[in-house]
Amino acid sequence: MSSAKIVVIGAGVAGLTTALLLAKSRHSVTVIAKHMPGDYDIEYTSPWAGANYFPFSIAEDSSRKWERATYPELMRLATQVPESGIHVQDANIFIVDGIPITPFMKDLVDDKPWFKGVVQGFRKFDKEELPKGMKSGTTFKSVCINTAIYLPYLVGQCLKYGVVFKRGIVKHIADAADLHFSGKKADVVVNCSGLLACKLGGVEDKKVIPARGQIVLVRNEAPGMYTTSAVHDGDDEMLYIMMRAAGGGTILGGCYQKGNWSPEIDPNLANRIMKRCVDVCPELTGGKGVEGLDIIRHGVGLRPWREGGARIEKEVINGVRVVHNYGAAGWGYQASYGMSEDTVALVKESLNLSAKL
Ligand SMILES: Cc1cc2nc3c(=O)[nH]c(=O)nc-3n(C[C@H](O)[C@H](O)[C@H](O)COP(=O)(O)OP(=O)(O)OC[C@H]3O[C@@H](n4cnc5c(N)ncnc54)[C@H](O)[C@@H]3O)c2cc1C
Repeated sequence: MSSAKIVVIGAGVAGLTTALLLAKSRHSVTVIAKHMPGDYDIEYTSPWAGANYFPFSIAEDSSRKWERATYPELMRLATQVPESGIHVQDANIFIVDGIPITPFMKDLVDDKPWFKGVVQGFRKFDKEELPKGMKSGTTFKSVCINTAIYLPYLVGQCLKYGVVFKRGIVKHIADAADLHFSGKKADVVVNCSGLLACKLGGVEDKKVIPARGQIVLVRNEAPGMYTTSAVHDGDDEMLYIMMRAAGGGTILGGCYQKGNWSPEIDPNLANRIMKRCVDVCPELTGGKGVEGLDIIRHGVGLRPWREGGARIEKEVINGVRVVHNYGAAGWGYQASYGMSEDTVALVKESLNLSAKL
């Protein structure tokens, strides 16, 4: 396949990973984005993520496929490419005694989960290893990504392979075809607009809504990553702890509030998050309780949740060939390589189609 001119809308983890794989396939790529790594904005999800590999995308077969495909690459980066800002961490997953499992945690807390053969070091905890209030648990080797390092790392990799970056806001998706750096019309436009796919002209996907996440970033160190099957404070709240690589602090979460666009910190929720995390992992503060937490900042990010799952599809809009890659909700990093590989395959199909026209 010869080199084609591609415009990618978006510089989140989806846009950057896709641009990188397209450029490695020798395409000539321009990325156009309203927000870039370095920005912290409620419309830009990627910097707010933990981010780790906790496959909890319940019963969505395609997301399992994408997560399966992504694990080896994240592990390679963690073990062989320190400048990517990713490190290997133990994922410790506990089932809480006495409360039903939160529906979206079902896959992750299964003691024979679908990803058992994908991840390294999977095993069940012995009873005596469990924290107070937990009835069982599992552990495996996972990764934690420092997004403040990893997103710029992806930009650097893209630049190395000749990707050109532009700042801008695309009003209608078909307009992006005129934004290739060569000044010529792009052959394909790739849509990685995340949550804003619900507003982008020509797409306006009303199945996309936010799943709001609130976090507390602290200086305290955690001996591993933790999550639980449920929390006592409701089905749209959760517990997770993950220490980012290379001094990125430890993320304490969180919640999963569908349809909530609020960028404001909810202080009561922040208190509940900190208490839950210190209860499950007292080592965070060396036994000093919540008062021992050293807070860097509070944060809110909006996950791009899509009814029916993420959209990796091709179509023609106003005569422009488009491939979509958006809607990864809470698993955009852990599925990033699988999703981007499928996107690249659809770009190839679109180009073959155009050769026949
Ligand atoms: C608190 C929290 C914790 C999370 N934890 C994890 C985790 O542990 N593991 C994991 O895998 N995932 C996690 N996620 C989910 C993950 O962050 C998202 O799935 C992922 O970041 C989505 O990336 P994206 O590239 O699709 O969207 P975004 O990062 O939002 O990027 C969208 C891009 O499109 C651009 N754009 C949009 N519209 C336009 C337009 N009209 N014109 C120009 N540019 C436009 C934006 O400016 C931006 O550059 C978490 C999310 C949150 C909020």
